[in-house]
Amino acid sequence: MSEKREIVTIDGPSGVGKSTLSRKVAAALGYTYLDTGAMYRAVALFLQRLQIDLTDEQAVGSVLAGMDLQLFPAGQEDGDVGVVVNGQDVSSVIRTPEAGMLASLVSAIPAVRKRLTEMQQTLGQQGKIVAEGRDTGTVVFPDARWKFYLEADLEERARRRVAQLRSAGQEVDSQELLAMIAKRDRDDQERTLAPLQKADDALSIDTTSLDIDEVCTKMLEVIQAQRT
Ligand code: C5P
Repeated sequence: MSEKREIVTIDGPSGVGKSTLSRKVAAALGYTYLDTGAMYRAVALFLQRLQIDLTDEQAVGSVLAGMDLQLFPAGQEDGDVGVVVNGQDVSSVIRTPEAGMLASLVSAIPAVRKRLTEMQQTLGQQGKIVAEGRDTGTVVFPDARWKFYLEADLEERARRRVAQLRSAGQEVDSQELLAMIAKRDRDDQERTLAPLQKADDALSIDTTSLDIDEVCTKMLEVIQAQRT
């Protein structure tokens, strides 16, 4: 059996609590938090700003070859990671629901997945990371030592996302957001490349009626039990 690496993967649909839990688990273990969704969001905006034809795989590939994407740890413990693309700070503009939809569209493009998967694997080379996304346990880090797959009812996920966006000062229509989340998850699940799915060896946790601290405690118990 191949050696498993000191990596925690946390996958699942949007609004399930992945970001908050990843940050908390990473802080508790002293690991680095890798927000792969932020990378897809940043690439989506980058391609949009350059007005690249998304059906032109070659054009997408060559533009990505000239893209420099840097991630920075969040300033505060509960803050989002910072993202700078070719010297431009896109940390807050990537966090809108529209950027999430665009990221989902762009994430089905093979050249995008290839580039970002390679970058993520390079970032995880030394281990000691907590990676969150859609395919971190299945494709990016299949040899991760701890894998989690989070789920929650759609209504609860939409409610959490609305609260999160409103507390960040964004105006959102809850029905519209629910429809966007439902579409994004369906598209992420149905795409051919690296679809959103549970890794066979991931532990599923339904977070619908659990609070974040309960889920975090549960995850840390699982990790610590197998850590020695
Ligand atoms: O997690 P977040 O909502 O920021 O992700 C935005 C979008 O990026 C997702 O809906 C998905 O389409 C894409 N994504 C992906 N693979 C990942 C992380 C995100 O396809 N590992």
